Amino acid sequence: MSIKSTSDSKFYCFLLFLVLFSSSFSGCFSKEEVLPEKFGIPGGLVLACLNSSHFNELVIEVDYEADQKPTPETLDLLIDRINSVCDKQSVSYELSLTDFEHEGAWTNDEIRLVGRETRETNAMNENQLRFHFMFPSGTHSDSNVLGVAVDASTVMIFVDTIKESENLIQRPSWEEIEAAVTIHEFGHLLGLVNLVYTSNVDHEDPDHPGHSSNEDSVMYWAIETSDISNIIFGTLPNDFDNDDRGDMIKLKEQQLEAWDQLWYPEDYSY
Ligand SMILES: [Zn+2]
Repeated sequence: MSIKSTSDSKFYCFLLFLVLFSSSFSGCFSKEEVLPEKFGIPGGLVLACLNSSHFNELVIEVDYEADQKPTPETLDLLIDRINSVCDKQSVSYELSLTDFEHEGAWTNDEIRLVGRETRETNAMNENQLRFHFMFPSGTHSDSNVLGVAVDASTVMIFVDTIKESENLIQRPSWEEIEAAVTIHEFGHLLGLVNLVYTSNVDHEDPDHPGHSSNEDSVMYWAIETSDISNIIFGTLPNDFDNDDRGDMIKLKEQQLEAWDQLWYPEDYSY
């Protein structure tokens, strides 16, 4: 099973939600591969997550800079969501205060490189599957981006930008936005929506590839650049919807084919 080559340099970046009185709430995923190592694309480890035949443990390595530590609620919710989708005997996180030694705004290439320099081990570490979530200071080079998934196991979340996205009435609060963005980026690591498979349910937003058309899914994107006062969210979605979950079940049960995987189960039928 081969990895998609380095020249696939499509980079998608979309505005996710607009927050009242405030700047935008956005997320990204990128399929670019800059090194010959097999780090894959977002979704490239979905079968490794869904299947427990080899990887029975999942560890989230959380590297954060000073004042950027994700809230316990964000981390607990992430664990809950992983447990609700992936088949693992244990799901845990390891927190590390980290100096990324990075100046200025982050490009996706820099995120990939720093992610590879700072992660403890490979994503596939014996029976452990390890996802790497970084929470640095500073912003993405696209200042609307709140989070990005840059390969099969690496995510960066921009807490400073998230805090700036909180509106005056704090509805949603930055903590809620942080949690939603974190789950959203995890969803991209699962290949949502249609990143490494084609759903048999039409729930990808045609205008925003890789995202759900359901505004109640955490994988939803809405783009709005003006008249933002028309958009008021009481609560942000922070969970997958039935169509997202249906895709995961069908991938696990091999009713849908997954491509660009870094790992396949031995009994894989495609
Ligand atoms: Zn996204």
